[in-house]
Amino acid sequence: MSDNLKLAELLFPNITETPDDMEAKFPPRNLKEGVRVTRLAPSPTGFLHFGNLFAGTVAYRTAKTTDGIFFVRVEDTDQKRKIEGAVKVMLDGLEAFGVTADEGVIGEDMEKGDYGPYYQSKRKDIYHVFAKTLVEKDLAYPCFCSAEELDEIRAQQENEPQKGYWGKYAKCRNLSFDEIAEKISAGAPWTLRLKSPGNAENKCFIDDMIKGKIEMPENVQDIVLLKSDGIPTYHFAHAVDDHLMRTTHVVRGDEWMSSCPVHLQLFKCPGFKVPKYAHVAPIMKEENGGKRKLSKRKDPEAAVTFYIEQGYPKESVNEYMMTLMNSNFEDWRKTNKDASIDSFPFNLKKMSVSGALFDMVKFNDVSKNVISLMSADKVYGYTAEWAKEYDADFYAILTEDPAHSTAILGVDRDTPKPRKDIACWSEVKDYISYYFDELFDNNLEMPENITADMAKEILEAYIAVYNENDTKDEWFQRMKDLCEPLGYTPNVKEFKKNPEAFKGHVGDVSTVIRVAVTGRRNTPDLYSIMSLLGKDKVMERLNSALKHFSA
Ligand code: GLU
Repeated sequence: MSDNLKLAELLFPNITETPDDMEAKFPPRNLKEGVRVTRLAPSPTGFLHFGNLFAGTVAYRTAKTTDGIFFVRVEDTDQKRKIEGAVKVMLDGLEAFGVTADEGVIGEDMEKGDYGPYYQSKRKDIYHVFAKTLVEKDLAYPCFCSAEELDEIRAQQENEPQKGYWGKYAKCRNLSFDEIAEKISAGAPWTLRLKSPGNAENKCFIDDMIKGKIEMPENVQDIVLLKSDGIPTYHFAHAVDDHLMRTTHVVRGDEWMSSCPVHLQLFKCPGFKVPKYAHVAPIMKEENGGKRKLSKRKDPEAAVTFYIEQGYPKESVNEYMMTLMNSNFEDWRKTNKDASIDSFPFNLKKMSVSGALFDMVKFNDVSKNVISLMSADKVYGYTAEWAKEYDADFYAILTEDPAHSTAILGVDRDTPKPRKDIACWSEVKDYISYYFDELFDNNLEMPENITADMAKEILEAYIAVYNENDTKDEWFQRMKDLCEPLGYTPNVKEFKKNPEAFKGHVGDVSTVIRVAVTGRRNTPDLYSIMSLLGKDKVMERLNSALKHFSA
């Protein structure tokens, strides 16, 4: 037996399976040519950053444009950082915005699919099979250096441009079998390191689907593959996983770009096919004329929970993310107004290389537009669902009479130019508050051009003629008919030509009624509002306003 084979046996005596066994257990997927398999591989930190949702969406859509498979793998090799409930936070956040895994981790300790386990912490033996082969092939070796020895190496490298455990600094690289066996029988702890076949003079290449062709020096570092407890590092684990889970496209944050030379070796050394890469640039924010990354510490919108708590529908978040993902999306949308976002030909190659800019104002505009196109039933359903979780009082009010609430939300909807008032469900309470006495804010402040006397006169006259059975035309005609006897004109143009001749125009008359009935100067169609309020409430509010202006 060669020394390498002996060493492999010494280090991994219990590993009897071989890479071929693994290949047989996790065979290539039976997919048509061109069908993509992508994944999101989060570490369960308990926080889902908007950037993770964004990268997850990119990975999801990359698979879905080919009817492919998107799976979730939990990278929990760092058990020290384990946080209870973290997987749920992450999956709930993804699920809320439609990033649903076909396979992989689908719940806390719940998995589905033939390529699992999908928790890295449950795959130790699989990693050891490949670790053992690397030792057999003389591509990995045990390292006994203590933390102090590694510090010493660092200190020696002060003037060395190439830092880390490599070449002449790699003390354990050339230990003999006997030296190793002795240390192991003495119980010395060891890590397993890659015996890097790289040469810093050589270049390696990646053809990244977002960043384009990239050239970097080859890796020379003998990086750690297995820690002293036998748990793999992320670098090693992900290569084994992406190979065995048959990932075709590795879509991930571009902070991993600089690790690519290491990753290329970790695929090539065990003989894996290198996947295609797509490195997603971070979401940026404008600040003081410059750009910076969207920050968990500084920006509430960096947390995916922000969108859930505010009640932004998944349609809005996805619509906005797509504007950030593909700059041609907005043009496509103009000519495909009613089309599902899923029919947009999403293309990795059209993604921003340096990082798309998150703009809250634009996001809200996009969301208002998306919501303006929803049916009243849908808006009602979504709002109720949100309120049930986040505003119990409002939920009770809203759902007392679902048909009535739906009708309220239907005002000025389903028209060629629907109003764009609502950006998220937490805004609905205020938006419709005047329909409910419990929420009505009786604010009778009139515009400056309308005095208390004018308001009083108009209200008196209107109360005398108000008829709850009017059609919309009759209702408006009544408003116009009030004008002349009171010194106003029903004709706005006429007023503009000769403002001195009138106290105001029909718009001022209707403003007085609007403010009296709703406490606002700007509302959707007043006729519809009054019909929905009903005679009693309208009369009560008109009279109460009249009293106010008569005092
Ligand atoms: N666990 C890594 C992270 O959370 C995943 C990187 C990758 O997708 O390869 O960033």
